[in-house]
Amino acid sequence: MRVVIVGGGPGGYEAALVAADLGAEVTVVNDEGLGGACVLWDCVPSKTLLTSAQAFNTLETAPSLGVHFEGMPGQEVPRYEVDLPTIMRRVRDLALAQSEDISKRVLAAGVRVVLGRGRVVGPRTVEVQPTGDGAGRSGGPERLEGDAILLATGSDPRRMDTAPTDGEIILSSQDVYKLRQVPEHLVVVGAGATGAEYATAFLRFGAQVTFVVSRDRILPTHDEDAAMVIEDVFERRGLRTVKNARAAKVERVGDRGIVHLEDGRTIEGSHVLLTIGQVPQTSGLGLQEMGVQTNERGAVVVDGVSRTSVPSIYAAGDVTAKLMLASVAAGQGRTAMWHLLGQAVTPLRWDAVAATIFTDPQIATVGLSEQRAAETGIEVEVDTLPLAGNSRAKMSNRPDGFVKLLARPGSGTIAGGAVVASYASDLIAPISAACFNRLTASQLSQAFQIYPSFAGSIQECARRLAVRVQGSYRY
Ligand SMILES: Cc1cc2nc3c(=O)[nH]c(=O)nc-3n(C[C@H](O)[C@H](O)[C@H](O)COP(=O)(O)OP(=O)(O)OC[C@H]3O[C@@H](n4cnc5c(N)ncnc54)[C@H](O)[C@@H]3O)c2cc1C
Repeated sequence: MRVVIVGGGPGGYEAALVAADLGAEVTVVNDEGLGGACVLWDCVPSKTLLTSAQAFNTLETAPSLGVHFEGMPGQEVPRYEVDLPTIMRRVRDLALAQSEDISKRVLAAGVRVVLGRGRVVGPRTVEVQPTGDGAGRSGGPERLEGDAILLATGSDPRRMDTAPTDGEIILSSQDVYKLRQVPEHLVVVGAGATGAEYATAFLRFGAQVTFVVSRDRILPTHDEDAAMVIEDVFERRGLRTVKNARAAKVERVGDRGIVHLEDGRTIEGSHVLLTIGQVPQTSGLGLQEMGVQTNERGAVVVDGVSRTSVPSIYAAGDVTAKLMLASVAAGQGRTAMWHLLGQAVTPLRWDAVAATIFTDPQIATVGLSEQRAAETGIEVEVDTLPLAGNSRAKMSNRPDGFVKLLARPGSGTIAGGAVVASYASDLIAPISAACFNRLTASQLSQAFQIYPSFAGSIQECARRLAVRVQGSYRY
């Protein structure tokens, strides 16, 4: 089997590794370094940036833990300097190093990597237009023939015609890394995960931050209780939220950015950051000519095993706009290759996907949410345990957050959960394993956890839920 993969992000490179492992001859066509936007522009850079912002947690809590910094008596947060050029260099170096590591793994697996832009010109043919030339290639387009094609071209930041980004004052999420000074006043337009993460970082770096949100709360599609914790923390740190505010236009006037709202109000800042979503990247791919079906969002339509409407063409990741997460892209890519190469395969478990918003504290969720259960009429029992009572949270002076678990009545099977805590992205792991493997609240509560630890709250919450739903946590 020969497989041609267009796009080298997690959807593409994870598929390449699986296909190569199963003996296929694999070529990956990518127009930038391997790892894709995920590694070079989105997940890795944003989380590296946020790691620098996390240094402030230590600074903020140290005096209350009895550790004072010389020369700064009585100051709650010691004086500091944010060296943005160093932070941004670190972000870039880490992203490039990660991309390099992925390239080594993929090349060692025997995969051929072609630098260029791919276009589907036949049900089994991709034409590559070389871009730049990091790989020493020159000359005209190359035709790649395969038995199957996988489209994994990802997504691009959504743009508004009335809000053209200039990379200096009006920024997209990818322009953030060009900043060399902390903005004096950053206006973030868009209330989703990306906006909340950048607001978290720049608030910590000392910028005045205004969050412009079109609904009555931030993170409108996420767990409401979790969003309330973040709103509260934002408010305490001085962030201003302008709610029920839909941006109609953003313009640059001199060295300032001005957001014009639909209701006539204006908000001015030194910089405006647009985080209004992502659109599937399908332009110039030749999908229409090939008869590959797309939906009203412009996303490639796929079935449970990532097949498109053309039998020899599969698609994975953001281009399918199912759930725009690196882990989902990777899962879809692997599933596609297992299916293509004749392995036993089950459709992706959409009911057990885990995700994190890397605010501070972080919000991690898995499976069914309380809101979704209410909307769809799925019966669940819910238990929420605030972290304020957790001994580890008290020691660390990090009391913001909670653990929430959802279980099906009768069986007590864990259907979902949410954790709001400093390292919620790691703490969600046992709940994710329970949800994926359909463990009961009682089973989750019996697994050993460390004392004292934040994870102890997961165990206690599971115990309380088991007593309510299953009558006891002993079985
Ligand atoms: C700011 C931000 C932060 C995020 N943080 C997280 C996070 O922490 N965790 C998480 O799980 N998800 C996160 N995401 C989402 C995550 O980045 C995506 O879900 C993930 O990158 C999707 O992977 P992919 O393989 O579909 O595409 P991508 O990673 O976008 O890779 C696709 C690649 O294909 C290339 N390409 C496109 N068209 C062509 C073509 N015609 N020919 C050749 N190459 C082409 C693109 O240039 C790109 O390199 C974040 C998103 C954003 C915007």
